[in-house]
Amino acid sequence: MDYAGILEKIHVDLQPWLGKGRVADYIPELAKVPADSFGMAVVTTSGEVFRVGEADTRFSIQSISKLFTCTMAFRLLGDALWQRVGREPSGTAFNSLVQLEAEQGKPRNPFINAGALVVTDVLCRRFVKAETAVVEFLRRVTGEPSIDYDMRVAQSELAHGHRNRAMAHFMASFGNMEMPPEVVVDAYCRQCAISMSCVELAKAALYLSNGGVVPSTGERILDSSSAKRLSALMLTCGTYDAAGDFVYRVGLPAKSGVGGGIVAVLPGEMAVCVWSPGLDKNGNSLAGVMALEWLTTFTDQSIF
Ligand code: GLN
Repeated sequence: MDYAGILEKIHVDLQPWLGKGRVADYIPELAKVPADSFGMAVVTTSGEVFRVGEADTRFSIQSISKLFTCTMAFRLLGDALWQRVGREPSGTAFNSLVQLEAEQGKPRNPFINAGALVVTDVLCRRFVKAETAVVEFLRRVTGEPSIDYDMRVAQSELAHGHRNRAMAHFMASFGNMEMPPEVVVDAYCRQCAISMSCVELAKAALYLSNGGVVPSTGERILDSSSAKRLSALMLTCGTYDAAGDFVYRVGLPAKSGVGGGIVAVLPGEMAVCVWSPGLDKNGNSLAGVMALEWLTTFTDQSIF
């Protein structure tokens, strides 16, 4: 497959779209990122790396962290995790509170904020510093020891994170928080503030393309059945309430973040990450979704 040529073509075709959409500004620190930034990387399970644009520039991974925290919590709890968080698409915005009351404080899935807060609660219970455990997990699966979170982004979100605090306290009122909500929100904002590049994120997600095993080291992160299940959740819930449209257009399991990154996996073949900070109305990277749609179209590869 000529990934190099196809990435070049996508970069050229995408020019008119770069800078379109809205850079997230509800976390003020994120609004400082140039709107027309763009990078994309494909990493194959056989270890080849293809990149275009600013594929080595680090950006704020935000909700893409939910994929890795969910992996860690699933490793710890297995199916017991689903007693506290569901597995259905929400059909509401990633930071919505409305379903929580009707559903007694049990979030729909681990990839919306409420569900990710429950997942982080699981990690806070197990690790003294959950965010450090997440950073260490990412360093290990990528082999990049300099990965870390950006304190300014974390503090910026903490200073404005009223909705996430409200959610954590609300779930606590239903008995679905084991640790103090403030501790969980603090760890959550730090995990969202981790900075990584497209190449690093594609490498990090590669265990999901490879039956749960990191191809470069042979380390088993998940058994193959759990890798299948997490990928299925990405497909149905990974891009918030746009998951239906996303899978129609792209045809890959994926997880997006308001930093403008999207990671997607093609089992048995590769992981891809695209970054462009302008977001569509659902909070997914506008040019990023387009780039992934073109990738699966030009390569004629998807899970379908
Ligand atoms: N840290 C962000 C928040 O909680 C993450 C949201 C996202 O990337 N969709 O609002």
